[in-house]
Amino acid sequence: MTTATARFIENERKKLLQEQIAVNAELENLRDLMQAEVDVEPDEGDTEIFEREKNAALIAVLERRLLDIETALKSIEKGDYGICTRCGNPIEIERLEVKPDATLCLNCQREVERLSRRNRPQRQIEW
Ligand SMILES: [Zn+2]
Repeated sequence: MTTATARFIENERKKLLQEQIAVNAELENLRDLMQAEVDVEPDEGDTEIFEREKNAALIAVLERRLLDIETALKSIEKGDYGICTRCGNPIEIERLEVKPDATLCLNCQREVERLSRRNRPQRQIEW
């Protein structure tokens, strides 16, 4: 692994840890809101329900994000981060900078895209 890659991964790990803290705080906040006593005024009932549904949806999104963060952190710990899952070679640093959650190197990504194109049904030639 090159120094640039190691530095990039360390940086990525720090960003993930910060995001994990932020997402956790946001989740706690939303869960508190959801548990708060709801004093629904007749006129405000719809808004209140709408708000709660919005919060519930947001909680689901944040929980999903938290799982992604944990998965990424685990793979960094194990040393799997930045390794192509198809060929086992390191993923190009330029690629990781653009797409930190990439799991395929550029070659494999191209190959996978090429194969999926080839597997698409061929158009019939009409004579
Ligand atoms: Zn690869």
